[in-house]
Amino acid sequence: MKVLVINCGSSSLKFQLIDSQSEKCLAKGLCERIGIDGSMITYAPEGGDKEKTLTPMSDHTEAIRLVLEALTNPATGVVKNLDEIGAVGHRVVHGGEKFAESVIIDEEVLAAIRECSDLAPLHNPANLIGIDACRKLMPSTPMAAVFDTAFHQTMPEEAYMYGLPYEYYQKYKIRRYGFHGTSHSYVSKRAAEVLGKSYEDLKIIVCHLGNGASVSAVKNGRCVDTSMGLTPLEGLIMGTRSGDIDPAIIEFLAHKEGKDIDQIMNVLNKKSGVLGLSDNLSSDFRDLEDGYHAGNVHAVRTLKTFCYRVAKYVGAYTAAMNGVDVICFTAGVGENAGIVRTFVCEYLGYLGVELDQEANGRRGEDIVISTPDSRTTVMVIPTNEELAIARETVRLL
Ligand code: ADP
Repeated sequence: MKVLVINCGSSSLKFQLIDSQSEKCLAKGLCERIGIDGSMITYAPEGGDKEKTLTPMSDHTEAIRLVLEALTNPATGVVKNLDEIGAVGHRVVHGGEKFAESVIIDEEVLAAIRECSDLAPLHNPANLIGIDACRKLMPSTPMAAVFDTAFHQTMPEEAYMYGLPYEYYQKYKIRRYGFHGTSHSYVSKRAAEVLGKSYEDLKIIVCHLGNGASVSAVKNGRCVDTSMGLTPLEGLIMGTRSGDIDPAIIEFLAHKEGKDIDQIMNVLNKKSGVLGLSDNLSSDFRDLEDGYHAGNVHAVRTLKTFCYRVAKYVGAYTAAMNGVDVICFTAGVGENAGIVRTFVCEYLGYLGVELDQEANGRRGEDIVISTPDSRTTVMVIPTNEELAIARETVRLL
């Protein structure tokens, strides 16, 4: 079956068409600036050239219509007609406590996703718009919702509760949820597969280090903790998000800078993280790495602080699981920045970690980067959230 995977944001939409048998991506692309001047669709069939077309997209329905047109285009398309697309898998950011796994979309599911919008006001409404647009244009095609939070629903209470008045959990469901679940699930399973070991017998820590970044602890095939919380702001220092801070800083800054709560949240989400910490040098680790080698003090401080925080979470999750067998690095930074893996692993001598520097220099493959003598196995597993969504969609059908 061919599965269309949709990841819809408020003004952008990423898509991939995946053949579920071969698990190959047949075509992929991106619609940008939906509903804004200068909308653009990028489309790339597997093995073909990438085309960028500037074209008006007044809304998401128009964007999906253009995606379907590109996929069925007689010259560069990869399917003859829409009947060849057997299902659509939608990434949905927040499933709250309602969704511990993916589901086939129906009216009841849509209502439940809408109810979770309070918890993810920037993401869930955009995801719903994408689902709605697809249902308009492909009314008889089955669709699945795959949640970023679902994999983490197995966390025990002691891992997901905050030290806040209990009534806020009862009234508003304020608790830790975690995100990137599709990636943490895919990478931890893949690690067990590559090692030829049973998923249910392993203690795995996954470091998903991208622009957004999170760590998870997966014990015997179940997530027992993860670093993001009610929102993706908690945990690691990220591209532009602060991660963990003393909550009293918010009040302190409000007074000192004369900012209101929205302005401060904007600083914590968009101006902090490695971008802010590097004194605006960059949020991109390629620039930080270049800066580090050139001796730029901002780059040195930022890389060290980022890696220290990752290592602290690895230590915490080793404690949470009473040990660790495998540590996996994934996503843009985790897969590509060997220097980050090296710095993090320098803290892990107590786990008997020894890195194989030759393996650590390779890219783009599932690989063990620790030496055969290393007491804990360290791996790089490139994540593939789209494939994981396609697999989930087919499983549900
Ligand atoms: P997200 O999906 O959260 O937007 P990604 O997982 O795609 O993020 O990661 C993007 C980040 O990965 C970039 O901002 C950059 O910091 C980092 N990155 C990408 N390629 C490289 C590379 N070759 N070396 C170091 N860092 C890289």
